[in-house]
Amino acid sequence: MRPREQRVGAPETGGAEQLLITGRRVPLGKTTEVMRALPDRQVRMIGAWCFLDHYGPEDLGERPGMQVWAHPHTGLQTVSWLLEGAVEHRDSLGSQALVRPGELNLMTAGRGIVHSEISQPDRPPRLHGVQLWVALPDGVRDRAPDFTAYADLPDLFAAADGVRGTVLLGELNGVRSPAEVHTPIGGADLVLEPGRTAVLGLDPAWEHGVFVVAGDVTVDGTVVALDQLLYLGPGRTGLAVASATGARALVLGGEPFAEEIVMWWNFIGRSHDEVVGYREAWAARAPRFPPVVDRDERVMEAPPLPSVALKPRPHRVERA
Ligand code: MN
Repeated sequence: MRPREQRVGAPETGGAEQLLITGRRVPLGKTTEVMRALPDRQVRMIGAWCFLDHYGPEDLGERPGMQVWAHPHTGLQTVSWLLEGAVEHRDSLGSQALVRPGELNLMTAGRGIVHSEISQPDRPPRLHGVQLWVALPDGVRDRAPDFTAYADLPDLFAAADGVRGTVLLGELNGVRSPAEVHTPIGGADLVLEPGRTAVLGLDPAWEHGVFVVAGDVTVDGTVVALDQLLYLGPGRTGLAVASATGARALVLGGEPFAEEIVMWWNFIGRSHDEVVGYREAWAARAPRFPPVVDRDERVMEAPPLPSVALKPRPHRVERA
């Protein structure tokens, strides 16, 4: 089987480590397929970023679109960012939001939230988007849940010709998003016209990633194709992203996450027993997980636990 990871830059040459990861196809809910780039076998996290799904572009003419029924989360933030189309979010706080292109929907699960994401009957004909998760650190991971939509996000570049971008979360290239974060982190959506190069300043203490959602880009001579993630280790002060044909990509970064986490299904905890407790609480519909308000629909049950104990995994795994 072809490996999904390929080393494209070696730390021994003095440059920061680079690893090219190809996303894998996985089902989401009953009707949607996504390309999942995080977690990867070799790269579990980039900073606090711990999950990256890309879906579409998909023509919904004869298809139901996104039908992700009610399900719980703990210990993380979900970042929903649409490139085309619309999806309705509802949750156990009573939030109701139509997720649309250009608006960031940030759900902070904290100690527990339940939500659903459904394409509505009057939806636009196409669907294209990403969902990312951000692990919450100790101290805030048991906080009260929250859902906030941010419609007014800052530009990644002050003025640029053929290059534009939006800072979604945290800070990148010296530009800060208003969205609430809890670790040093950054995420941006970058659009390149054909033949253009975007240059960003980076914090050398951070690790970074470039994930392509349309076209392809070149970074340090490495071509990053659609649904590929280029992992960049700490030690870089800048990044040049070029595209001959035009492209759209996410740029992610963050200080390497200091804590070990146990991530299973839709939960992030710190131990096997904690995750088992979350699973049992969801099965029992315990007060930690109230029902989604004003939406009478089906729910997703957690799968069986694996036969071996869940363990924290290293954020980066070296393989021969
Ligand atoms: Mn979810």
